[in-house]
Amino acid sequence: MTRLVLVGAGHAHAEVIREQARRRRDAGRLHIVLVSPHHTAPYSGMMPGWLAGHYDWDECCVDFARLCERSGATLVLDTATGIDTARSQVMLASGRRLDFDYLSLDIGSTSHPPAAEGLLTLPMRPLDHLKQRWNQLLDIVARLPGGAPFRLLMIGGGAAGVESVLAAQYRLTRLAPGRNLRFSLATQGAELIPGQSRIAARLLQKQLEQRGIAIHFGFSADRMEHGRVISDSGETIRTDAVLWATGAQAHAWPKESGLEVDVKGFIRVDRTLRSRSHPAIFAAGDCAAWEPQLPKAGVYAVRMGPVLARNLFAVAEGRPLETFQPQRRHLVLIGTGASHAVASWSVLGWQGGWVWRWKQRIDRRFIERHNGAGNLTRDAVKEKPCQRQHGTEP
Ligand SMILES: Cc1cc2nc3c(=O)[nH]c(=O)nc-3n(C[C@H](O)[C@H](O)[C@H](O)COP(=O)(O)OP(=O)(O)OC[C@H]3O[C@@H](n4cnc5c(N)ncnc54)[C@H](O)[C@@H]3O)c2cc1C
Repeated sequence: MTRLVLVGAGHAHAEVIREQARRRRDAGRLHIVLVSPHHTAPYSGMMPGWLAGHYDWDECCVDFARLCERSGATLVLDTATGIDTARSQVMLASGRRLDFDYLSLDIGSTSHPPAAEGLLTLPMRPLDHLKQRWNQLLDIVARLPGGAPFRLLMIGGGAAGVESVLAAQYRLTRLAPGRNLRFSLATQGAELIPGQSRIAARLLQKQLEQRGIAIHFGFSADRMEHGRVISDSGETIRTDAVLWATGAQAHAWPKESGLEVDVKGFIRVDRTLRSRSHPAIFAAGDCAAWEPQLPKAGVYAVRMGPVLARNLFAVAEGRPLETFQPQRRHLVLIGTGASHAVASWSVLGWQGGWVWRWKQRIDRRFIERHNGAGNLTRDAVKEKPCQRQHGTEP
């Protein structure tokens, strides 16, 4: 058996496991093991819709337990903490080690807001950590006494920051009508959604202004204290809670394991998504450093998926690998909370209810493609016993 270990239930690995389900009959002697802390994984495109209250959490998640079941892959509920490259083993938080012939990483990115005692902080990355903190915030807002003000500040003016603060404003003002809620967004640049259409940026700015969300341009958040965020130039914004959506940061352990990484710590890959330093290891999605740099967007992780799948099967079978060709630009659809969205494509921008319905169709199709019909597999699903065949007990 060739042992292929996939670490991370990311968007690209969803495509790999789906492809394995399709070719199961001729899958031959390849056994796939997926390491993921959870049975399901959130799909980024629907997260702001979940914040706004349009979707339940489960509706926005890919059901990896079911995908693994359909493809004959083994799901190991654990978190990778490092790679022993000399022994070709992945080290897990539980202390176990998994042997691999080939390894693929699709672990996304993370963020590290400065620590702040007594200030509720919700990093938007990683997505699977968001649910608990968001529910905590909903609880606080639902219990607010009558006239007491409550301030929420979004740090980050990219698509995720703008979309999420609009979603938060939509949801919280409905949750606590008549309460004194105040929203603001701070970004280090002089414009919203840098790198996207200026028309779309203006449409979004107008949405923020109309919804009473104050915008602070040129604010580079440096530290946080109880009740306030302070910029590197000493400017202060008072707040009770912070949503943190600045740029993606790399997980530390791939670099610590000796993989070649870029200056930010993302895993350097060649045109075939293979690690530049370790030919038995592949990486895709946010955690991979493509040259020239690609935006850290789910759309690239999804597009890398089929190429990654074909290359993982090819390398295991001794066939040549194919190269990934990233698209030059991508469509960005940004929900505004209400059933309305803004589209950004190249220099063009549009908005309307039809953009929201378009976005919903794309997002729901993604989920259906992976989950099929029926409900999500919930916590009842257990690891299959065959995973022990690959594990080396510590
Ligand atoms: C609020 C928000 C909205 C966004 N909206 C969009 C959008 O509309 N369109 C878009 O294109 N992009 C969007 N993005 C960006 C998008 O989230 C990421 O680019 C995308 O999720 C990256 O996909 P991925 O496959 O690399 O990783 P992810 O989807 O982040 O998946 C990584 C997986 O790896 C797992 N993992 C992490 N570490 C370990 C470990 N040590 N061991 C085992 N498993 C691990 C995690 O549990 C997770 O399931 C948004 C981002 C945010 C924050």
